[in-house]
Amino acid sequence: MEKQKSMDASFFGQPRGLSTLFFTEMWERFSYYGMRAILLFYMYYAVSQGGLGMNQATAASIMSIYGSLVYLSGVVGGWLSDRVWGARKTVFIGGVLIMFGHIALSLPFGLPALYASIVLIVAGTGLLKPNVSDMVGSLYDEGDKRRDAGFSMFVFGINLGAAVAPWAVPWAANGFGFHLFGSTMNFHAGFSLAAIGMFFGLIQYWLDGKKYLSKDSLYPNDPIDREGLKPIITWTVVGVIVLAVVLGLFGAMGQLNITNVINIITIIAIALPIIYFIMMLNSKKVTKVERSRVIAYIPLFIAAAIFWGIEESGSVVLALFAEQRTILHIGGWHFAAGNFQTLNPLFIMILTPFFVWLWSKWKRQPSAPGKFAAGMVIAGLSYMWMALPGIIHGTTAGRVSPLWLVGSWFIVEIAEMLISPIGLSVTTKLAPKAFQSQMMSMWFLADSAGQAVNAQIVKYYSSATEIPYFLIVGTVSVIFGAIMFFMVKKIHNLMGGID
Ligand code: GLU
Ligand code: ASP
Repeated sequence: MEKQKSMDASFFGQPRGLSTLFFTEMWERFSYYGMRAILLFYMYYAVSQGGLGMNQATAASIMSIYGSLVYLSGVVGGWLSDRVWGARKTVFIGGVLIMFGHIALSLPFGLPALYASIVLIVAGTGLLKPNVSDMVGSLYDEGDKRRDAGFSMFVFGINLGAAVAPWAVPWAANGFGFHLFGSTMNFHAGFSLAAIGMFFGLIQYWLDGKKYLSKDSLYPNDPIDREGLKPIITWTVVGVIVLAVVLGLFGAMGQLNITNVINIITIIAIALPIIYFIMMLNSKKVTKVERSRVIAYIPLFIAAAIFWGIEESGSVVLALFAEQRTILHIGGWHFAAGNFQTLNPLFIMILTPFFVWLWSKWKRQPSAPGKFAAGMVIAGLSYMWMALPGIIHGTTAGRVSPLWLVGSWFIVEIAEMLISPIGLSVTTKLAPKAFQSQMMSMWFLADSAGQAVNAQIVKYYSSATEIPYFLIVGTVSVIFGAIMFFMVKKIHNLMGGID
């Protein structure tokens, strides 16, 4: 079995199974980012324009809390795969739920369809995303030198899907270039394309997976027995009851509204990683060195959360800026506001080879905490940059060059290069043995926490407030980055020999 793994090199020198996972995740990300490229506009556009006519601040807040939930649910998805279904089945079930989520939005059922779709996609992504990444890891034997390159190719697949979708999905919503829907948009046509994308992903996964994914992935790593199940059931029941009581109380007070639901989720998304840290630090299964590494992970986690907060606001705050403040053509070439979402993954694809080269050549390169500190400063600058058009023109009314957004995304993607791949690898290295797979979920929880905070602050963003908004949030990130620079040595020492 082991021999086979290291001998299979039929996909650009990588195991053939990587191709299956590459295309599955490419299509899943296509559907996710395609949907997000138009969702914000769908929510706040007037009904006469094909939208739901929501208030803009609420729509922005929903975008962020939705993003937060999608990465929060990975905790459950990872657990179900490890202990109940095995990765193969979990990913498939997740993909099916995601597809139905997009189908819900493709139907003209307004708000109920939106909420149903959010529930389906949050659950589906939680099942699919962490486990498809985990399966990439298990394509390789321990010590197989191709692992890092394999992950880079996988990340390329993510960004390929994410780069194409913001062209394809808004194009469908705008009538496939034929103005099929007159001057209004048909968002449902766009969401249908997202559903079709996920459908392709599933077919490919099903047919190819049978041939090229290992049989091991059909079984849970650590199957749960009756005894183990008891406390889980108890805690789930307790959790559901607590949630029902809290929601019931809000309902009884006439306060069960979308704002309060968002507030509750924000609290959960911030509390969960704190509980995880406390649990790991107090666990008897964690050795002394491991405990010190977990402590080192705390500032890295906070830095990642701040970074993801800024990065993920690209589909919310920068999307609003694209729609309301940006000239949507260059010469005779016209584009849609949603098309700007392509810039993030595009810059990742362009910058990755440069950074791979840089890290391989730079002998005395900074350690992970140093890179994180720089990443936070740079992410903050990408925001401060966005305050400039309003300051330079002396007004935040009217439209400015699309190059402002291009510049901001370019800057934030440099930061992403310093945080995302470094963070993924350092997370696996700092993980205590007994918490190996949970630690991977922790990494996604940083993104989730960042977006949970966004859900509270994006409400204050509008053209009228853009200058202070970009300056304040940008400065916070720069200040945290600067503080972290002074702590680099300390954190590095706590990492117990890991770079
Ligand atoms: N853009 C990344 C993805 O979609 C974000 C995930 C992360 O938080 O690492 O895979
Ligand atoms: N940067 C995101 C991720 O790494 C992609 C996106 O936001 O479009 O995949």
